[in-house]
Amino acid sequence: MSDPQTHALQRLREMQQGDLPVHGGRTLAYVYDSGDSEVARVGSEAVAAYAASNALDPTAFPSLLQMENELVGFACDLLDAPPSAVGSVTSGGTESVLLAVQAARDSRPSVTAPSMVIPSTAHAAFHKAAHYFGVRAAVVPVGADFRADAAAMAAAIDESTVLVVASAPSYAHGVVDPVTEIAAAAAAAGVRCHVDACIGGWVLPYAARLGRPVPPWTFAVEGVTSISVDTHKYAYAPKGTSLLLHRTSSLRRAQFFASAAWPGYTMLNSTMQSTKSGGPLAGAWAVLRTIGDDGYLRLAREVFSAVDQLAAGVEAIPALRAVVPPDSTLLAVATDDTCDPFTVTDEMLARGWYVQPQLSYDGGPPTIHLSVSAATLARVDELLAAFRESVAAAQAVGPVAVDPAVVSFIDALDPTTLGDDDFDGLLATSGLVGESADGGLALPERMAPVNAMLDVAAPAMREALLVAFLDRLSRPER
Ligand SMILES: *Cc1c(COP(=O)(O)O)cnc(C)c1O
Repeated sequence: MSDPQTHALQRLREMQQGDLPVHGGRTLAYVYDSGDSEVARVGSEAVAAYAASNALDPTAFPSLLQMENELVGFACDLLDAPPSAVGSVTSGGTESVLLAVQAARDSRPSVTAPSMVIPSTAHAAFHKAAHYFGVRAAVVPVGADFRADAAAMAAAIDESTVLVVASAPSYAHGVVDPVTEIAAAAAAAGVRCHVDACIGGWVLPYAARLGRPVPPWTFAVEGVTSISVDTHKYAYAPKGTSLLLHRTSSLRRAQFFASAAWPGYTMLNSTMQSTKSGGPLAGAWAVLRTIGDDGYLRLAREVFSAVDQLAAGVEAIPALRAVVPPDSTLLAVATDDTCDPFTVTDEMLARGWYVQPQLSYDGGPPTIHLSVSAATLARVDELLAAFRESVAAAQAVGPVAVDPAVVSFIDALDPTTLGDDDFDGLLATSGLVGESADGGLALPERMAPVNAMLDVAAPAMREALLVAFLDRLSRPER
């Protein structure tokens, strides 16, 4: 017990006690649990076996290339891809989205000020891509059903458009956009169409096989040129892999990068990373082999059984309602005015459940997000009981209020002109940052007052405050 390596591992396990649990089905965002401990064990062992290998050079580590091609092949079958389709394994959904935007931009070098048409419900990764690559996001409001407005998106396509985006499904509301109409409009304009199926791509095909109504969104839809699907979500693989598929290899070409402009090895990369651990890829490959097609069908049956029970159970709690009937495995839940979502999520956490608060946006109310996993099926009754208790507790204290003086103070601020001292003051006022007994930084115990304060702030102010918050958190321990 006294040797340093045992000590390090023991310390890791101790520190991990403070994190959200990744298994057990009680964490309904960030993590996805098949509920099968054997799947988790195989994934972890494969990650460990390949942790030090390097996908920088597929000729040096041919087993990694083999695994990548098999993974992409499985996904091609799942997503109705034609024989011409190709794909790459990336580090996650954001990287897949970034590369889809980058490839679209670089395939149209004559467009000097490129833009992309995205629905307002598109994942924030597209805004990150816009920021990184200088591709302006033309954001089109969604319809009353939270699905993209295909006609408005078609009308937003112009000479500068290099990409049109649809989600299958959207993260915040869990609904599938009208991909057929959007892709047709993109094709008519000669523009690429990316379907962001990061979260739904692995589970929707099985939903369709189970006979659930799933609107068309795969490569079976004409005009869809690329699809992103995260294996570290509903393929239940360890963290660190996603797939980006293109309908043809020529559509992928601009994604690849080579540089011989230096005296070392010619750099040749398919994705943003260069040195790239083989661990996540091996983990995903091993999990896929373990679960297999039949296993994913069974897991889909389980997760949708949980979703259906949860959707019905939520509707049966008078203070709660599903914002829209889910097309997939994600639920957005709103409260009536007897309580607020932020207090409910705090109360859920106090009862051992993590559900994710979503701030109000574009006239929509704040909501509670649930990414349901297969592992949650065994605990649906417990989860609904926790919701009933949490709502009662939230009703007992009443909706969290923000001091009107704080509201007008925040309203009057321009985040672009604020300095570090202003943010320190704001972080302290908001309760985001306190001081611990030892003089260090203390995280808030209850998030409701913080979320309520962020909720009244405009998006740009939320961003600035949270960036300042992250800056304070990220400081060296010496
Ligand atoms: C999760 C998600 C992403 C981003 O994926 P990361 O793996 O978190 O980088 C993109 N789009 C959608 C719809 C997602 O749900």
